[in-house]
Amino acid sequence: MSKIKRALLSVSDKEGIVDFAAGLKEFGVEIISTGGTGKLLKENDIEVTDIDQVTDFPEMMNGRVKTLHPAVHGGILAVRDNDEHLKEIAAQNIEPIDLVVCNLYPFAETIAKDDVTLEEAIENIDIGGPTMIRSAAKNNNDVAVVVDTADYDELLAEMKVGSGALTKTKKLKLAYKAFHHTAEYDQRIQKYLGEIVMDEEEKQQLPETLLDRYDKREDLRYGENPHQKAAFYLEAEQNEPSISTAEKLHGKGMSYNNINDTDGALELVKEFEAKPAAAVIKHANPCGMATANTLKDAFVNAHAGDPLSAFGSIVAVNRKIDAETAKEIADQDKFIEVVIAPDYEEEALEILKARSEKMRILKTGELSINREKPGYSMKKVTGGLLVQDRDLAQTAAEDLKVVTEKAPTEEQIKDLLFSWKVVKHVKSNAIVMAKDEMVVGVGAGQMSRVDSMIIAGRKAEGRQEGGVVASDAFFPFPDAVEKAAELGIKAIIQPGGSIRDEKVIAACNKLGIAMVFTGKRHFRH
Ligand code: 5GP
Repeated sequence: MSKIKRALLSVSDKEGIVDFAAGLKEFGVEIISTGGTGKLLKENDIEVTDIDQVTDFPEMMNGRVKTLHPAVHGGILAVRDNDEHLKEIAAQNIEPIDLVVCNLYPFAETIAKDDVTLEEAIENIDIGGPTMIRSAAKNNNDVAVVVDTADYDELLAEMKVGSGALTKTKKLKLAYKAFHHTAEYDQRIQKYLGEIVMDEEEKQQLPETLLDRYDKREDLRYGENPHQKAAFYLEAEQNEPSISTAEKLHGKGMSYNNINDTDGALELVKEFEAKPAAAVIKHANPCGMATANTLKDAFVNAHAGDPLSAFGSIVAVNRKIDAETAKEIADQDKFIEVVIAPDYEEEALEILKARSEKMRILKTGELSINREKPGYSMKKVTGGLLVQDRDLAQTAAEDLKVVTEKAPTEEQIKDLLFSWKVVKHVKSNAIVMAKDEMVVGVGAGQMSRVDSMIIAGRKAEGRQEGGVVASDAFFPFPDAVEKAAELGIKAIIQPGGSIRDEKVIAACNKLGIAMVFTGKRHFRH
């Protein structure tokens, strides 16, 4: 292992650089630096060689050309056990550079500014920096490259262990990190320019690459089952409050299933803005859901939807949890895995914490759905990935088309729209029965719609009488509608669009049911 003798420091983010340079000096390292970096080091009494002394060329054009020179790149790229390389650089009076410390022009920060111009953004595209980083990363056998200010201390510590040298493994690791850094940097530039040059139609297209936008946040204990390894990956850009941005205030670590189910719960209550809403979720399907004038009532009704299934459930609400609601949630008869809410009143949080050491309590901040940047939903298939827009379709009263002789009443319309929002979050074939802003029965994930109807009816235990039904997709036959009538359902919401719609409508007319079409389907497989 050879010692680091000569380092090039050129950083935009100058945090920690003075101490780091001082640390390098203790190992007798010669420091070369570019304009701004050199100035700062000199001000702190650290001796540096200016880059123009190395290149024998002035920094040019406001820094557009500083380190782009054979004296720099020859010094970085020369393979130290290749005699030809060494002879060639010696012939040009080029000396080897063993360490490159560089972080790039702040492109991301620049484009994040409200009034940024294209010109300003372009000026903040670093050229020499990535070139230098990539040269050093390529020649990682002989050269170390540092791109992260957080790595300075560890690097000095490892140099100490190696008496001024670093191991090959360490240098290879640094190279890996360096290429990750430059790749991410270029991708940001590409995305920014894409927003400017692409027309609306092109913007609608799904991106060519997707997965490189994800970074691992944490390894999980295991996956859906104990024999499966698992981890949680996050998108680099977070655009709205979600399970991925939520802060855990209390409780055990989140498991794979917890994360999946909590996501389902939260996304459901996010649909409801106007009133306090609560959802109780099991296996990503709602077993209870309600809106009410108070959060406490919403939770009580949601839990009452299917108290048996609610054992071991996830609870999500769309309002700050107050003490009254917390008391209901903390009730000893209920076993709840996770509670997620925008926020908690102090007393409420204490009540929930006292309920159990284990129950996870998550806070999201005020909920919203970012319709401007909604992102995608994805589903893994063997050997591939299915990607689609998120299902953000909304349906309002004025979108409903009454297709039966009987029109729904005002009250029924409220419940129809309520159940329509819920059914979107239930696995297909999905049937939701609701009454008075409360889900009373859910039939989820059945292979036939009639079975979903039967199951929902069984769950409702008579509470569906006079209530409504939402169906995530059209009824292919009148049979499920006939079943609904038998159960005392008075109004139905569904997309419509079956070739046998007429028969289904006729059945409703005969049975005295009001039916509306949404024209939109909410499959969820
Ligand atoms: P300083 O503040 O030291 O003057 O400049 C440091 C910044 O310059 C670093 O972000 C580094 O990536 C960048 N840089 C180094 N060499 C070059 C070059 O030749 N051209 C450009 N455009 N940037 C460079």
